[in-house]
Formats: sequence, structure tokens, C-alpha cells
Amino acid sequence: MVTRTLATLVHLEDLSGDRQAGGNSVTVNVVPEQVKPAAAHEPVKRYDAIIIGAGISGMYQLYRLRQLGLTARVFETGDGVGGTWYWNRYPGARFDSESYSYGYSFSQDLLQEWDWSEHFAAQPETLRYLNFVADKFDLRRDIEFSSCVTAAAYDEAANCWEIETGDGRRARAQFLITAVGPLSIPTMPNYEGIETFRGKSFHTGKWPHEPVNFTGQRVAVIGTGATGVQVIQEVAKTAAHLTVFQRRPNYCAPLLNRPIDAETQRKIKASYPEIFERCRESHGCFIHKADPRKAAEVSPEEREAFYEKLYADPGFGIWMGNFRDILTDPLANETISEFMRKKIRERVKDQGIAEKLIPKDHGFGTRRVPLETRYYEVYNQPNVTLVDIRETPIQRIVPTAIMTSATEYELDIIIYATGFDAITGAFDRIDIRGVGGRTLNDKWADGPRTYLGIQIEGFPNLLTLVGPHNAATFCNIPRCIEQNVEWVTDLIRYMRDKSLKRVVPTQEAERVWTEHVYELASRMLFTKVDSWFMGINTNVPGKQKRTFLLYSGGAPAYREKCDEVAARGYEGFTLT
Ligand code: NAP
Repeated sequence: MVTRTLATLVHLEDLSGDRQAGGNSVTVNVVPEQVKPAAAHEPVKRYDAIIIGAGISGMYQLYRLRQLGLTARVFETGDGVGGTWYWNRYPGARFDSESYSYGYSFSQDLLQEWDWSEHFAAQPETLRYLNFVADKFDLRRDIEFSSCVTAAAYDEAANCWEIETGDGRRARAQFLITAVGPLSIPTMPNYEGIETFRGKSFHTGKWPHEPVNFTGQRVAVIGTGATGVQVIQEVAKTAAHLTVFQRRPNYCAPLLNRPIDAETQRKIKASYPEIFERCRESHGCFIHKADPRKAAEVSPEEREAFYEKLYADPGFGIWMGNFRDILTDPLANETISEFMRKKIRERVKDQGIAEKLIPKDHGFGTRRVPLETRYYEVYNQPNVTLVDIRETPIQRIVPTAIMTSATEYELDIIIYATGFDAITGAFDRIDIRGVGGRTLNDKWADGPRTYLGIQIEGFPNLLTLVGPHNAATFCNIPRCIEQNVEWVTDLIRYMRDKSLKRVVPTQEAERVWTEHVYELASRMLFTKVDSWFMGINTNVPGKQKRTFLLYSGGAPAYREKCDEVAARGYEGFTLT
């Protein structure tokens, strides 16, 4: 029995969103303790496995568990499948991975049936794709939509998990698998007066299903991460005026998207095995493989020519396919950072604005590189203003405007591209209790600790797809998701074959893995910079101290380690 919520917790959303687990949502207990919601009287349903989330990982996990003959149920907050691609409907949202390297690889039929229209598909196409997958494999019959899991408790005596949804429904299962997504909890700034704004406000991660028209409107975008960059370049096309409120700029690189013609489509379909093999071999499972040379091993002219080539190539090549030491050696990093600064100065006409767009506190690639399409040229348009809010901070939001220390910007629409409570945020929003009632929040108070990023000591039979310290957090994500799901499925098959009921990592295995994660991270330049990689979110209390949320050893090494653990009878886990 879940112990925490007898009453329904209702989250009053900060803005227009309809999502229960929102960022700065205000949680108000509106039902008196003694009154249970009707759903709480329903019989508790039982399954072999419960999956939280119907995004890319939850959908695939459901498919695999069904194949194993398990009864599995997915609980999903949204009213459709797709996770990230369901929620992030903002204008300009699209892949930064090559489309054909992003789709599921497990079904030959699916690969041959689906045509990607562009090298980097836009969000509506990706959502259509995920719906196509859900239909093709008849997934929806095992998914409960509009079902936000608010609590999950491990029952030691029965060796099972019981979950509770926001409306009081309960279900039990031997295995609880979280597929909650690494970037699924949008977070809002805490500006005074934010709720008084009378125009329209949207967070990009909770974008409405209906189109938003910017024509003739005075629009603000707050935030210039990968999302802000995509939305800015789109809104600038039609807004009467766009004001960008930038706290820290990022180094952005050209996406160079283009349509896929029939001949290329044919070639892609014929070469899927090679595409996926290439992804398997690369650090982040992209089709871009790091250059084996170090930056200083070539002459300045050769280096410059190499950077020019990478800048002229589509996608993440400039980040993932660069010299192998640009993310570890400050001198190597400075060569590419200087190259990128030069590009910004070339592309932005007003050199005062160019300087504002150049990062001063970090080197290229040490934070997530936004990919862009004429982003810098936006700042040459007469209808666009850049406000550096480190120079003139936002002081408050009033019914018709944003007020900085210097002036007042009259607005019709405010777009918050202010990011997410990354990776651990979705776990924090569920009251997860393991052995002895210990909460996961308590266990992770000083930063996450896991074994392989997939299990947690003290939380038996809880499996965390794309969890903290899992290679999937820094990956062309479906590639790593498939690895995670297949590994978890094999573990469950192994347990069933051997009549084992309970799996949990040892404290020692968890300690060693966590130390390994931090040791690897210490070699990376991005641990010297604040970003969501480091668990920093200035808008969330308690998330101002650097931890480390990713696994930086690369997908091939991670996969090898997972396979080795399995081959040794799941070394580091206690199976009973
Ligand atoms: P983000 O990288 O965390 O960026 C948030 C932005 O909002 C930053 O510019 C941040 O400034 C600013 N911000 C936050 N709080 C603020 C405040 N109180 N006042 C003013 N500015 C504030 O979030 P994101 O852009 O949504 O991207 C998150 C991740 O999603 C990406 O790194 C990427 O992994 C993923 N993503 C992927 C794609 C794709 O694949 N195509 C597209 C979009 C996003 P500071 O930098 O100063 O903190």
C-alpha cells in the first residue's frame, strides 16, 4: 500500500500546461485526508511489470516484455504516446540527430515501411512516427493515458511495487520500470509578477496542441539553450517584434538540414545495418565518430581547414566528430572555440551584438551545442532585439511587459525556453520508497548513486531506463534506449528462467560504479561549467550545487561493461 497520498495532490500549473508533474507547479492538497477519490476504491490491478512513461523507452520496453510473455502496463501522464516529442511541440522543434540514425532499429519491417522526409525531421513528423510505431505493434491497449504516477512503494513482504496515480488509482507489479525521460520536467523562472502577465505565456516543454500565431505580435523568448535557439529562429520569421532575453549564450553550429530525395531514401533503407553499426561504434551513438588525432598533431592551417569542413557538414560532426581531445584538453578546446567565435563575428553584422552572442565563461562543446539554421542572422533583422540580462537583469514581469533594470519591453507573448529539471527531476516528482520505506529523494539528496545507471541499492526490482549515470543520458538516445531495454529484458528473462524473484545491486557495486562515473567525468571539461549535465538548475531549490548526472565513458564502453556484468551472472547484483 502506498503510504504517502491518501488525498489527491492537485498541481496547479504555473502556466497553460496540462501536465501534472510540472516545473514550478504549486502543489495544493485540495482533498481532505479522510475523503478518498473515487478511483482509490477501485480494486488494485496486478501485473508482472509496470512501466512509467510512454515515450521512446517505455514503448519499446512494453513491446519487449510482451514478447517475453509478461503482463505489462504503462502509465503515462499525457494523452498520447511519444514522451519528449509529445510535449515539445514548440515551433522549430526538430532532431539534431540524423533522422535515420534516430528511429528504432529492432524491426526490419518498421525500418523499411517508414520514410523520413528530411535529414533532421521536425517534431510533428517524429510524433507521427511514434504513433505509427504504437499502431503497428498495437501498444496502446496496454497504456493508461492521463495517468500521472505520483507514488511508488516497495512491499518487502510481497516483493512487489505498488504505484499510485494522481487520481488515486493503484496497481502492483513485481517489476517497476521507470521510462520517465531525462528532460521531462519543464522549469520556470521565479520572476516576481510572472503570474500577472495578461498576454499569452508558454513553456516550450508544455506547448499547446493548437498552433500559436505570432504574426503581428510582440514576442519575448527567455532562454538560449538548444530549445531557445530553435524557437527563436522560427518566431523571428513572423513576429512583429522578437525580444530575446539571453542570460548566457552558447556556441551554436549549423544544422544544414535538407529534404531526403527518393534516391537517398532508397540508399538509406539499403544501408541501415551499416548506419546502426557506425552508431554502435561511436562514443555517443551518432553517425559521427571522433577523429583519432589530437588538435595539436596537425598544423594550424590543416586544423583550420578541418574545422571549416566540419562547420560545412550537417549535424553534430563538429562536436562528436572533432579531434579527440577537444573536450578534455583546454588548449585543444580553445582552438575550436576561437574558430566558432570567428564564425559568430562573421555572421552577425553589429559587432556589439556579436560579442554578446559569444560565450565568455565556457569553451565550445562543454555545454550542449545547439544546432541552428540561420540563428545568428536573426540578429541582423530589424524586428529582433537581443537583451543581455546579465547586463540588465529582468526585475519583474508586469501585466503587459517584462521590466529589466534598464527598460520595459511591452509584449503580447512570452515564451519560456528555460529548460528542465534534468534527469533526476522526474524521479524527484514521484514519492519512490524502497526497503524500509526509505525515499529515493533522501538517498539521492547529495546526488544520484546507482549501479550501471539502471538500478539502485535499497530499491529491489526497480529498473531505471535512461537513469542518472547511464550512457543513455549522453547519447543519440534511441540507440542507447534499445541497449537499456534489451539488457533489462534479458535480466528479467534470466530471472524467470532461474525462478529468481528479486534483484538489487550491492552497496559495494553501487559505490564502485558511482566512483567510476565521477572519475571519468573529472577528465571532461564540461565538469568545470554549470549546465544541466552537472545537475544545475537555477530555478529549482537545491539544484545549485554541481553533481554529475551523465555517464561520460561512451556508449561502447558502457555496453561492454553491461554485457560483462550479465555474462558473469549479473555480477554486482544480489539475485534471490
Ligand atoms: P537548457 O539547455 O537548460 O537552456 C535553458 C536556457 O534558459 C538557458 O539559456 C538558461 O540560461 C536559460 N534560463 C534558465 N533559467 C533562466 C532564468 N531564470 N532567467 C533567464 N534565463 C534562464 O534547456 P533547453 O534549451 O530546453 O535544452 C535542454 C536539452 O534538451 C538540450 O541540452 C538537449 O539535450 C535537449 N534538446 C534537444 C533538442 C534536439 O535534439 N533537437 C532540441 C532542444 C533541446 P543559462 O544558460 O544561463 O542557464
